[in-house]
Amino acid sequence: MDNYDVIVVGSGLLGLSTAYNAQKAGARVAVIDRGATAYEASSRATGYLSLRADDPDEAPLAEMAEKLWDSLDQELGYPTEWTQKGRLWVAFSDKQVDELRETLKAFQRADFGFEMIDADSCRKLIPILSNETRAGIYTPRSGHANPQRVSQAYAWAFQDVGGIILEHMPVYSVIEEAGKVKGVNTANGKIFAERVVLCAGGFNANLLQPFGVQFPVASVRLEALVTTPLPPMFEVGFIGLNGLSIRQTKRGNLHANGGPHEWVDVDADHEPAKPNTPIVRNLVRRMIEAFPVAAGAQLLRTWAGVLDITRDQKTIIHRFDNPEGLSVAAGAGHGFGMAPAIGIAMAELALKGTTSAPIGRLGLERFADISPNWKTEKQWNAGSYNT
Ligand SMILES: Cc1cc2nc3c(=O)[nH]c(=O)nc-3n(C[C@H](O)[C@H](O)[C@H](O)COP(=O)(O)OP(=O)(O)OC[C@H]3O[C@@H](n4cnc5c(N)ncnc54)[C@H](O)[C@@H]3O)c2cc1C
Repeated sequence: MDNYDVIVVGSGLLGLSTAYNAQKAGARVAVIDRGATAYEASSRATGYLSLRADDPDEAPLAEMAEKLWDSLDQELGYPTEWTQKGRLWVAFSDKQVDELRETLKAFQRADFGFEMIDADSCRKLIPILSNETRAGIYTPRSGHANPQRVSQAYAWAFQDVGGIILEHMPVYSVIEEAGKVKGVNTANGKIFAERVVLCAGGFNANLLQPFGVQFPVASVRLEALVTTPLPPMFEVGFIGLNGLSIRQTKRGNLHANGGPHEWVDVDADHEPAKPNTPIVRNLVRRMIEAFPVAAGAQLLRTWAGVLDITRDQKTIIHRFDNPEGLSVAAGAGHGFGMAPAIGIAMAELALKGTTSAPIGRLGLERFADISPNWKTEKQWNAGSYNT
């Protein structure tokens, strides 16, 4: 049976980025996925980098990711459509202006250049904004990329350096002997490696359960759409009206996803169904309220995807002492933008046991006292996430 230095479970961007960096460092790496390569959250994302300025634990890692995005096309050898023209949160009522002022206080905890700007300045950045625009929070930093291109770029780059991707092969469990990882049990039999990195989104919880680990991730479904291409109008990433996110792609499509209040809890035990629902209509209505010109566009495609929200909405990056050789990562709803940095951290942790990446307090130690009923106790509500 096959033998590798590292097995990565999950071919989303966290898995592919980890695998690419580990293979590049000289390890023999196999990525195993129960479906097709990067067919889940990573290619369904909207494509923003969230700077996480309100969180001192995550801001340094986001800053590392921002630098990596800048040269990712050259690093991987394929285009990602990374565009760094900043991000704009827009208020369309006095109440929303007050909310933005509170948000700004949190965002200014890190020095990412966030500032409040008036309606005219907002319209200089996005000329098609509605006449109801009152004010915005802007940072020239942050950016967005094309999730399908990024997923493809990482998969190809990993294969270019000799990595192996095994598709349509569910991983059932991690094999452990005498406190050390030995490989994984898959639908096609055992595959061996002394290092296993779990990047399986919500399913990480199931793979960790036999080791007595409570993995505090809640899976939620959200919906997204792209319109037919429109003329180029803006490059900044837009957030407004109940968390609605809209970017304009390089070809001109408006690419949007809904806000947290539209997220729906799902069970990640099996691959959850991802239907579109009337939520898409809400998305379209809010998009037209923000950008009246969008009323002239047609919907090209709609879809849904499953996010991996952690209990405190922060990334998880963790290496276990027992069993030796096991590590796990989860993106906490903003894993797309963080993936270049998370992959470097995970590859170093798996191969060397330590990392130079600023992962601070992102390990599972922070959940040491978590109870199996954390969702009930926390009065978990998918919609309370802070975009
Ligand atoms: C609509 C939408 C919009 C989003 N927008 C953004 C955004 O703008 N910016 C941002 O930063 N983030 C965004 N996200 C979140 C981001 O996509 C995720 O945080 C990130 O993609 C997580 O990457 P991942 O590799 O951990 O998970 P995934 O991409 O979901 O990959 C996990 C993989 O594990 C595989 N797997 C699961 N169980 C098993 C098993 N037992 N055996 C083998 N394989 C298994 C799955 O098939 C899947 O391919 C968005 C997500 C969605 C759905």
